[in-house]
Amino acid sequence: VPPVLAVVGRPNVGKSTLINRILGKRVAVVQDTPGVTRDRVRYDAIWNGRPFIVVDTGGWESKVKGLDLSVAQQAELAINEADAVAFVVDATVGATSTDEEVVKLLRGSGKPVVLVANKVDSDMQEADAAYLWSLGLGEPYPVSALHGRGSGDLLDKIMKIL
Ligand code: GDP
Ligand code: MG
Repeated sequence: VPPVLAVVGRPNVGKSTLINRILGKRVAVVQDTPGVTRDRVRYDAIWNGRPFIVVDTGGWESKVKGLDLSVAQQAELAINEADAVAFVVDATVGATSTDEEVVKLLRGSGKPVVLVANKVDSDMQEADAAYLWSLGLGEPYPVSALHGRGSGDLLDKIMKIL
């Protein structure tokens, strides 16, 4: 059975775009509207000849509960099912209180985590990524899921912890 990587993070940080980058094709649903991914969706992926499963998360449009709780709940389910987690943060926004909630879950889970600083589209934005050291999850990996910048280094790191 291939190992499972869960991709978690707030709506609109670029999780589905990153998964499309990992898969090398456009399959995960990407939209400007937050919360478009309906459920946890599993994809077969391969890197350097090693197969693994990527789980996209989303679908946390809860009319009853607050957004923070919904994101955390969805993340928790995905984390429990995973061997390792890619936690995606929008480096252009920085860490929000919702991100901090997910960090607590990740710490409690004991699962290996790679911190993805997404939307680093240029060298000049690398400084945005460095701020994410403050989350206490180790080195932030600056990537542009949209353009592919840094995605090879990120995948090499993922395969090390998976
Ligand atoms: P999700 O809700 O976390 O799955 O986010 P999506 O993958 O649907 O992306 C949300 C929006 O962010 C879309 O408009 C994407 O095109 C945009 N986006 C994703 N990755 C990047 C990136 O690396 N750079 C920039 N500039 N935009 C991105
Ligand atoms: Mg999505």
